[in-house]
Amino acid sequence: MADVLKKVPVREQDPKVRATNFEEVCYGYNKEEAVEEASRCIHCKNAKCVTGCPVNIDIPDFIGAVKEGNFEEAYQIISKSSALPAICGRVCPQESQCEGKCIRGIKGEPVSIGKLERFVADWARENGIKPAPAAEKNGHKVAVIGSGPAGLTCAGDLAKLGYDVTIFEALHKAGGVLSYGIPEFRLPKDKVVAAEIENVKSLGVKIETNVIIGKSVTIDELLKEEGFEAVFIGSGAGLPMFMGIPGENANGVFSANEFLTRNNLMKAFRDDYMTPIHHGKKVAVVGGGNVAMDAARTALRLGAEVYIVYRRGEEELPARKEEVHHAKEEGIQFHLLCNPTEILVDENGWVKGMRCIRMELGEPDASGRRRPVEIPGSEFELEVDTVIMSLGTSPNPLISSTTIGLDTNRRKCIVADEETGQTSKEGVFAGGDAVTGAATVILAMGAGKSAAKGIHEFIMGKK
Ligand SMILES: Cc1cc2nc3c(=O)[nH]c(=O)nc-3n(C[C@H](O)[C@H](O)[C@H](O)COP(=O)(O)OP(=O)(O)OC[C@H]3O[C@@H](n4cnc5c(N)ncnc54)[C@H](O)[C@@H]3O)c2cc1C
Ligand code: SF4
Repeated sequence: MADVLKKVPVREQDPKVRATNFEEVCYGYNKEEAVEEASRCIHCKNAKCVTGCPVNIDIPDFIGAVKEGNFEEAYQIISKSSALPAICGRVCPQESQCEGKCIRGIKGEPVSIGKLERFVADWARENGIKPAPAAEKNGHKVAVIGSGPAGLTCAGDLAKLGYDVTIFEALHKAGGVLSYGIPEFRLPKDKVVAAEIENVKSLGVKIETNVIIGKSVTIDELLKEEGFEAVFIGSGAGLPMFMGIPGENANGVFSANEFLTRNNLMKAFRDDYMTPIHHGKKVAVVGGGNVAMDAARTALRLGAEVYIVYRRGEEELPARKEEVHHAKEEGIQFHLLCNPTEILVDENGWVKGMRCIRMELGEPDASGRRRPVEIPGSEFELEVDTVIMSLGTSPNPLISSTTIGLDTNRRKCIVADEETGQTSKEGVFAGGDAVTGAATVILAMGAGKSAAKGIHEFIMGKK
């Protein structure tokens, strides 16, 4: 009998092998493992795990169905609340959400809710099961800007209510960060992302790619000339930040966004694609979040020796623990409590190294985390030929600067009501990273869901 205090372990690719390929790291549960793990759930009344899920999946009931071997029923329960379960099961920070609240976690390990969600969604896809069809069309048109998790969720929920929904996407491919940011080895693009986008389309949602709102057409034109009664902005936060240190303009310095987009969206890692990408031999990735881990592990798979350079300590790393663990297993080296002060450049304008200074942690700052303070005289040089800056992103100002009456805050984020997504402009709603700044897939989905409700109430209220 397995230890009920522990999760059923999940099978993964061997770290030495996976460090050289782009295949998925985690294999997920098979049927037997899923049923065994589901049996650890005690089906709590007023289950705390549900309060930790921003889209309120009925976790006890879906796990109960898995326990009985009713995988199709489990899928239909999940898809009432989530349009993207195979994606969330792979990338959501469950440890700080549903699993963080699971009662099993008090005395042992929480139920592996994320891996069970992934199992159910994968099983449904492999068995051709689709979400329940949408309602009859109600004759109302809504536009959604951006096809990331916020936009897809808002569009899917509105389609289920009968709306005629069109998503406008600036890139040539739908999915937002799911397609261009998160690497193939964590989130397979064709098998998982494209399949879940097809599920949203199967609800009747139309997706028009290569349309940049604010350039191709404005929000005011959508509302006044194109017959849309409401617009949801889910345009994300895709504008990378830099440090402003000397040498940052050198050849061989990239933003993590550019590096990952070339690789994921434009498939630079595949021999059958022409996309150019810089194959560094020694790469420093500056930052400690999920994006930094993804950039580091991508550079490693392209053949480099890779260092993470982060100004705080291990405890403060913002990346998911699982990602840090995987990165270490694969051989990424961590230079913690260490900050770059200059990029060193050779006579041809290429990176030849990075000057860094060691840090120690002082008093907590506004974010509540202990502030990193430089240790005088501790400078040293790191020999690298490539630097990838992964310091966070902010929303692109294109939409706010071309939409009259749309308020933004100091951080250039769109101001929107948390409950309804309503912005300062009538008929215009917003959610996801465009409102919060860079956050998570599930928070973006939660915001898309709330906005769909807000839009429905707004349009029905006009009648
Ligand atoms: C590399 C990386 C790894 C990450 N890893 C994780 C993780 O493991 N777990 C997790 O929960 N979160 C992770 N995140 C964060 C998460 O992906 C985002 O919080 C989430 O995708 C935000 O969703 P969104 O729909 O608001 O925006 P996005 O996913 O950014 O989608 C916005 C879409 O809008 C489009 N767009 C922008 N402007 C316009 C315009 N003017 N007209 C038309 N379309 C426009 C963009 O092209 C994009 O497709 C990661 C982020 C990155 C970059
Ligand atoms: S809190 Fe844990 S044990 Fe209780 S219903 Fe949720 S997953 Fe099951």
